[in-house]
Amino acid sequence: MKYDRTFNFSAGPAMMPEPVLEEIRDEMMNYRGSGMCVMEMSHRSKVFQTIIDEAEQDLRDLMGIPDNYKVLFIQGGATLQFSMIPMNLMKNGKAVYVETGAWSKKAIAEAKKVGEVIVAASSKDKNFSYIPDCSDLDIPEDADYVYICENETIHGLTWNTLPNTKGHILVSDQSSMFLSRPCNVSDYGMIYAGVQKNVGPAGMVVVIIREDLIRDDLTDLPVYLQYKTHADAGSMYNTPNCWAIYCCGKVFKYLKSLGGLEAMNQKNIEKAKILYDFLDSSKMFTGTVAKEDRSLMNVPFVTESKELDAEVVAATKAAGFDNLKGHKSVGGLRASIYNAMPKEGVEALVEFLKKFEAEHQA
Ligand SMILES: *Cc1c(COP(=O)(O)O)cnc(C)c1O
Repeated sequence: MKYDRTFNFSAGPAMMPEPVLEEIRDEMMNYRGSGMCVMEMSHRSKVFQTIIDEAEQDLRDLMGIPDNYKVLFIQGGATLQFSMIPMNLMKNGKAVYVETGAWSKKAIAEAKKVGEVIVAASSKDKNFSYIPDCSDLDIPEDADYVYICENETIHGLTWNTLPNTKGHILVSDQSSMFLSRPCNVSDYGMIYAGVQKNVGPAGMVVVIIREDLIRDDLTDLPVYLQYKTHADAGSMYNTPNCWAIYCCGKVFKYLKSLGGLEAMNQKNIEKAKILYDFLDSSKMFTGTVAKEDRSLMNVPFVTESKELDAEVVAATKAAGFDNLKGHKSVGGLRASIYNAMPKEGVEALVEFLKKFEAEHQA
């Protein structure tokens, strides 16, 4: 492999596309004749304004974001959104959440500090290994929104059919699946994603929010926690994460050059199939998620024992595959295979696991 890089299966921060890293390297000392690196640049400069404007436009092009949605680049990661969402969107002080794993649980815990939370469906009974049926949820008329985590990074499940919100606003955490497949933005009131999973460097979240949900009557709320502040200031109320905006902008352009989200989806389906086909045929390894809800991004799997799990993890590490240890709440292994993981990485991992299984049985 060029540069002697490892196949990094981390859940995040995770791999970035090599052509993007090369471009960043080439622009490091002198960004396009500006005489400085983007890290050293005033966010009020014309050069940076072009960077942020292009990043937003490229994201709009990629996702087909309608004009009545704002795109915001906010700091505090996806985690701060667990609080900002109820603080800004609970008008009646009540919201419906679907509990599908660790990340929706965290969002629920924070929302409870702000208002009434109704957990209308949960897959806790089977350690979050499936997406519950949400075609006919019990949603109070005055609920302000319905909240889902569209891809549970730790448990490895994805929503393939959105819940029936019965006319209520849908809010979705897309952190670990952002830009992995086409998305009809107008199905949502708000989408957000921490960018370090599938896009760029850590420390920033992209918020896509319908304009009419941005309130100007929240003057008691700390100014930084109001979406209005960020919307009015073009994501530059204070110094933004300039570096993350720059790197994400490059990834947006790169994804466009590859054919956009439809093309990414095809690649991701193909890539995940290599691993899932192997898991389905293996006698040693088992996927932990219901087939119809399996994530194309995060693939958890286990062996028959914790000891063997640990042995496999150690063997993968020694063979040059990184970060395959599963999260403690699921155990076993987890391969995160985001947009930037090349197909060759998944093929190499499957070859390795096949060999491990054959040798173990011999
Ligand atoms: C990683 C992750 C988060 C938290 O992201 P931070 O940027 O670290 O705050 C939230 N939701 C999901 C689904 C995640 O995968």
